[in-house]
Amino acid sequence: MSLRDILIERIRTIGPMRVADYMAECLMHPQHGYYATRDPLGARGDFTTAPEMTQMFGELIGLSLAQAWMDQGAPSSFILAEIGPGRGTLMADLLRATNKVPGFHDALDLHLIEASPALRRKQRELLGEATWHDSIADLPEGPLFLVANEFFDALPVRQFIREGELWRERLVGFENAQFCFGMGAPVDQPVLRHRLEDTEEGHLVEVCEPAHPIVHEIGKRIKRHGGAALIIDYGDWRSQGDTMQAVKGHQEVDVLDLPGDSDLTAHVDFELLCAATPSRFSRVTPQGVFLERLGITTRAQVLAQQMEPVQIEQHVAAHRRLTHPEEMGNLFKVVAFYPEGETPPPGVDP
Ligand code: SAH
Repeated sequence: MSLRDILIERIRTIGPMRVADYMAECLMHPQHGYYATRDPLGARGDFTTAPEMTQMFGELIGLSLAQAWMDQGAPSSFILAEIGPGRGTLMADLLRATNKVPGFHDALDLHLIEASPALRRKQRELLGEATWHDSIADLPEGPLFLVANEFFDALPVRQFIREGELWRERLVGFENAQFCFGMGAPVDQPVLRHRLEDTEEGHLVEVCEPAHPIVHEIGKRIKRHGGAALIIDYGDWRSQGDTMQAVKGHQEVDVLDLPGDSDLTAHVDFELLCAATPSRFSRVTPQGVFLERLGITTRAQVLAQQMEPVQIEQHVAAHRRLTHPEEMGNLFKVVAFYPEGETPPPGVDP
């Protein structure tokens, strides 16, 4: 039975489902889910990410986290973690770049949080020894230095459309032999009361419920034991409108076509992330600004000196793609979580 048939059957028996349930099934269904079944990254996959474009991304994140570790007195033992590590490329670049930071490698214990068995295999091939977990709550206690790139955009969102002071939830149904959107009854949504101030009749807002406990768990550990987290993703302080999108073979496709066979994401609402952490959080910084502050252009020039002309073209394009305001430089944002009384990792503003 295909995922499409499973979803149709489910809608027939229990009725239209929340957008979040549709997204969760498409991405994580144990047999047919998009991430559960494949490695979607890279030129031959469906989409590409910053660490897959250039080694500079992981390197600079590594140096920022290593500086934060030194600023906090270089604890002799800490957890280095990544959530949603994809192919493990970012972590490999981070580890190589921090190899010469005195004491950093001796002190770190590597932990990866990854739901996809296919990607866990890739990560093991590239990184070798590490400990894998299904959930952030399974990490051991201790100072935590963590990175998450394009992780939160893969978590399911619920969508609500404003009607008066109430909200109707957007649902996925099945009619005339195709999936279609419908709407639930208008209900009060306490988590959306603050959005009455910046929305009007008919506006759509998204809420990513699973992000909340994950962020809380990260922030709790950082507050209790020290550490820092860098969260990088596309989105904004307060997201508005329907941002759910589906990508297949580097092309945008309809979100209701190809369930389980296209990548589904939604913009990250950074206000909701920051509201969930008990630690301090930095200002939300555009990725381009963050990378420039960490010296990406100087690093790009150094690397270019050892490259062949054919490589340089791609290298310059990757630098531009990551930093230029009209490419990923502004759409992608960085936020850091860090303990009270400490400075945030370099690159972001307190
Ligand atoms: N950070 C990587 C990959 C981004 S794709 C990069 O920048 O290239 C999203 C990653 O999050 C994948 O590794 C996916 O398998 C993982 N993921 C998605 N939902 C998850 C969940 N609920 N728990 C753990 N990992 C998840």
